[in-house]
Amino acid sequence: MYGKKRKSIMKLIPPDKKRCQAEILDGSFMTLGPRKWIRCTNKPTVVITEKKVPEKETKKGSMALCKDCLKGAYERFGWNYFTVKSI
Ligand SMILES: [Zn+2]
Repeated sequence: MYGKKRKSIMKLIPPDKKRCQAEILDGSFMTLGPRKWIRCTNKPTVVITEKKVPEKETKKGSMALCKDCLKGAYERFGWNYFTVKSI
């Protein structure tokens, strides 16, 4: 489950600098039942790039994120998972 989610959000190459590329869950963490993934509509402020090439892939994942989603990405992947570059 965790691996699946990670792929879906890290696979967008090249980064779209006009729109945040994170997919966020609709609803809150308290929502019961299935929640759907929607793409964030904010303007991105940074581009993050994976430090390591994931298994079974040949390119490093890279994506544009807004401030809020960057925070979410840190919470999800930790501080050592990717590098951050301001746009
Ligand atoms: Zn966002």
